[in-house]
Amino acid sequence: MPLLVMKFGGTSVATLDRIRRAAKRVGVEVAKGYDVIVIVSAMSGKTNELVGWVKETSPLFDAREYDAVVSSGEQVTAGLMALTLQEMDVPARSWQGWQVPVQTTSAHSAARIEDIQTENINGKFAEGMRVAVVAGFQGVSPEGRITTLGRGGSDTTAVAFAAAFGAERCDIYTDVDGVYTTDPRISSKARKLDRIAFEEMLELASLGAKVLQTRSVELAMRYKVKLRVLSSFDEQTDTSGTLVCDEEEIMESNVVAGVAYSRDEAKMTLISVADRPGIAAAIFGPLSESGVNVDMIVQNISEDGRTDMTFSLPTDQVARAEKAMEDAKTSGSINYHDLVTDTDVAKVSVVGIGMRSHTGVAAKMFAALNAEGINIKVITTSEIKVSVLIDRKYMELAVQALHDAFELEKVA
Ligand code: ADP
Ligand code: ASP
Ligand code: MG
Repeated sequence: MPLLVMKFGGTSVATLDRIRRAAKRVGVEVAKGYDVIVIVSAMSGKTNELVGWVKETSPLFDAREYDAVVSSGEQVTAGLMALTLQEMDVPARSWQGWQVPVQTTSAHSAARIEDIQTENINGKFAEGMRVAVVAGFQGVSPEGRITTLGRGGSDTTAVAFAAAFGAERCDIYTDVDGVYTTDPRISSKARKLDRIAFEEMLELASLGAKVLQTRSVELAMRYKVKLRVLSSFDEQTDTSGTLVCDEEEIMESNVVAGVAYSRDEAKMTLISVADRPGIAAAIFGPLSESGVNVDMIVQNISEDGRTDMTFSLPTDQVARAEKAMEDAKTSGSINYHDLVTDTDVAKVSVVGIGMRSHTGVAAKMFAALNAEGINIKVITTSEIKVSVLIDRKYMELAVQALHDAFELEKVA
């Protein structure tokens, strides 16, 4: 039988009523003749609550136990979804990541899927089961411990299952009806895109647009999974939502496809470090070993052989980073006068494949921010994006100003 993967995010399974509504959507596809693999998130807010409990118990927590705790939200919704389907007379069964099994690396809290074994689930399909409900976001390490895939990881579970089982399509049901030019919660002028190129979606996701987890887009691109984002609240047709697809499948597009933001950024500056060969390695080596994801980096002008080094990182990694830098100073591998942390910054980015062939995007971006009196603290660019770090209080204003400046409410 043809197979579909349907993923329901946190708001789509937030209550028993919503689970019933999602199960009805699944029932529609089963009635059309599809076998379905349903991937569920935890009820909305649940994972945040679990993460909060872990951090309150142990600020520099052991990531193995973090995973043991935060994976539990999906266990509940998987079982409830299977029960709901059974009540509707749809033959369904639930699976935890380790039961499938979904084999991952042992990088706890940010594990990567290495393999998904299809035998167990396919065996049940062969016996007449119509829906396999799988807990998203989780897997099992080579050591046999539960792992999680990073926040938003159920999207990645869904795409990985679609690839492993050769599904006809992977539908991501969420609380918005597709991918927009920017977060519709920040700008009322945001426009829904019918299609978006994998590469643009990849950049938007990695720069903070949490509608899809970055890794899920990477996998879809690599394994040619037909990926669609749509609302679990509206009635659906075969062309609803946004299709994430190859660049060649898109007829017209703006130079800038969208604006992304990341609220939870922090900026750290090491004041007066020795400007010598190897200093960057001596700073960023220990940060990486402590699991800190450094993003933007600026080394300032050097004076008398000393310089300031600035970098950005997620706010929740500040404590780890400070400890890594203090330890490196104690051990003598680096020396600095002061470590200054600014946790009130945000990153705003414009993304578009059109930047490869159009110049002036960065200049227009800086002019639009200047017109609002917004100061830029750090800048980075790549072939298809420009990102700036600014004071967090200006973040929403910056997103709106850029959306206006690039006229994203209009189709090219
Ligand atoms: P789920 O729980 O279904 O996984 P998420 O909260 O992870 O849902 O992702 C959906 C949210 O992503 C939307 O509610 C929206 O606020 C946000 N979002 C950010 N950028 C975009 C964008 N460009 N298009 C659509 N949604 C976006
Ligand atoms: N429940 C997890 C989270 O909130 C995974 C997901 O929803 O995709 O991050
Ligand atoms: Mg999500």
